[in-house]
Amino acid sequence: MTNPTSPALPGRGPFKPKRGDGTMRPCRCGSGLPSEEVKDARGIYLARVCDECRAERLAEFRPEVLTDGGYECDEPIEEEV
Ligand SMILES: [Zn+2]
Repeated sequence: MTNPTSPALPGRGPFKPKRGDGTMRPCRCGSGLPSEEVKDARGIYLARVCDECRAERLAEFRPEVLTDGGYECDEPIEEEV
């Protein structure tokens, strides 16, 4: 006899689905607004900002860093030949 309403499968804890990718975190600037990651045009993580501090934080970066993936960079970068 098997119980069709078995409470749990062996070896499997309660499954907690992750919502989104965990970006809904309060911003560190203290606004209490949800923050989001900002990445540059190359997909490199720059900062975590909210609507409140976005302009201020992004002002630290050159505009082309955010918009142009071919921006000039001092670091050595492997080039595809
Ligand atoms: Zn903020």
